[in-house]
Amino acid sequence: MNPNRILKEYFGYESFRKGQYELIEAIVRGQDVLGIMPTSGGKSLCYQIPALLMEGVTLVISPLISLMKDQVDALRESGISATYLNSTLTVQEQRTRLEEIRNGEYKLVYIAPERLNTVDFLNIVTDISIPFVAIDESHCISQWGHDFRPSYKEIPRFIRRLNQRPLLGAFTATATEEIITDIKEILKLDRPLEIITGFDRPNLYFGVEKGIDKKKYLLNYLKNHSDQSGIIYCATRKEVESLAKELRDKGFSVSMYHGGMGNEERKESQDAFLYDQSLIMIATNAFGMGIDKSNVRFVIHFNMPKNIEAYYQEAGRAGRDGENSECILLFSPQDVVKQKYLIEITDMQQEREQMVYKNLQTLVDYCHTHDCLRKRLLEYFGENTDWEQCGKCSNCLDHREKKNITLEAKKILSCVYRMKESFGVTMVANVLNGSKNKKVLELGFQNLSTYGIMDDYTTKDIQQIILFLVAEGYLAMTEGKYPVVKLTPQSVAVLKGKEEIFKREDINEIENQTERAVHETLLKDLKALRMKIALEKHVPPYVIFPDTTLKEMAMYLP
Ligand code: ADP
Ligand code: MG
Ligand code: ZN
Repeated sequence: MNPNRILKEYFGYESFRKGQYELIEAIVRGQDVLGIMPTSGGKSLCYQIPALLMEGVTLVISPLISLMKDQVDALRESGISATYLNSTLTVQEQRTRLEEIRNGEYKLVYIAPERLNTVDFLNIVTDISIPFVAIDESHCISQWGHDFRPSYKEIPRFIRRLNQRPLLGAFTATATEEIITDIKEILKLDRPLEIITGFDRPNLYFGVEKGIDKKKYLLNYLKNHSDQSGIIYCATRKEVESLAKELRDKGFSVSMYHGGMGNEERKESQDAFLYDQSLIMIATNAFGMGIDKSNVRFVIHFNMPKNIEAYYQEAGRAGRDGENSECILLFSPQDVVKQKYLIEITDMQQEREQMVYKNLQTLVDYCHTHDCLRKRLLEYFGENTDWEQCGKCSNCLDHREKKNITLEAKKILSCVYRMKESFGVTMVANVLNGSKNKKVLELGFQNLSTYGIMDDYTTKDIQQIILFLVAEGYLAMTEGKYPVVKLTPQSVAVLKGKEEIFKREDINEIENQTERAVHETLLKDLKALRMKIALEKHVPPYVIFPDTTLKEMAMYLP
């Protein structure tokens, strides 16, 4: 049988999606593959169809225990013999399945990575023929990714133990260079056919909302989408719990999910959402990899995540059925502070830390740009578009008037220059505003010719403009905990009068709301700092800070 017939007869589809045929064909021909397709792109078929075309058993390594059963059930319904091995089985079930695998009863075996190097499994796989091993969600092997699973590192050892090296197929929706390099190197893919299909998700609307009262916005949004299913992502467990409570009190049908909940509780909550018993899922980033709920109509990020990759994966859980859906990121400067603290309390090498900061900044830029958001996202994944405007993102649809800010930009750029490109956004804004801040005076900046030349603006407004200039490339920000504002080649063009800059008016934040938010942030920062100290000193936090329990502190984690 050929792939086209299998597609029709077993799966009931008329034609292949982008990349599917090429990948299947390569595998059947005997070449390793690396398939990079967006969420919902149809990666599963790329290993399921070859499995049917090859002698022996195909192994599918997947971290998604909850999804294995669903996939296996679906395959069986289509008349394909498949099974799975993971920690949900009893010892007896496990034994039976292993025997069945030995007897050649299955074409496809899904297996969790932790099971690979167990004695029982190794005993069997050395007796049977395994022509092909598919590694789903293969970005989990890379420490650069946000979904790193230590058990994925066990895969190469397992492969080496097989009698014959099988063909390898790695599949992921992640397309960043470091991760792809890692996948190829760690798995030792042999001259793989590498296919990256387009990353665009045309049915998704992308929006960024800033300078808003997030709660008000959210409530309003939910009221206007009351019969729809959606996910709301928050940064920490604590925020998940408080938002869930608040929405429940207001009568919304809500489930929640975070890393601090027990397994049972999490599963119940996830099922309630998957089977539409509750419409809204409020969760940290612990929720979602591989979630195959087709009718998610919106994904709202109540807090900004840590990078574009994580954002696109999470947002991509909307509209898997191809229907119009919305992905909205609610931005506030406090979220950046929050993300930086999360970075700080994580132990990592300096090189990696720089990268993490840089990736964070790219997402901050996404939030401040006036460019088409879709274009920005696709460019991040290395895809060039032949259009400037998608017509379906909050920037393309924003027709508010733009103001010429070339003069302001020139003032800012020359101030950065005069401050020797050595200070952060706040300091630059303070100098331009003519602030009497102690640090400003100590450093003698009151003598700079640019001191106070923007005293008709608040420092906050100046900061907004600087962030916009960074987002558009007229300024750059160094990586690290205390980023410094630098000039770029584009700054020179502006200073020489070769380029004009236009910016939309920002909506002013409600002042006391902001004050309260800042106060809250400070409190949180304090806790995060305590946790950091505790971690550094290798002492349980409650020893140093008896008023704060470990459990309480864990609430500040995702
Ligand atoms: P991924 O793993 O890439 O996120 P899946 O393999 O889960 O995506 O596929 C997403 C959905 O698309 C599934 O419902 C699947 O049945 C469907 N699908 C896959 N390939 C095709 C195709 N060629 N034609 C129509 N639907 C397809
Ligand atoms: Mg998949
Ligand atoms: Zn657009």
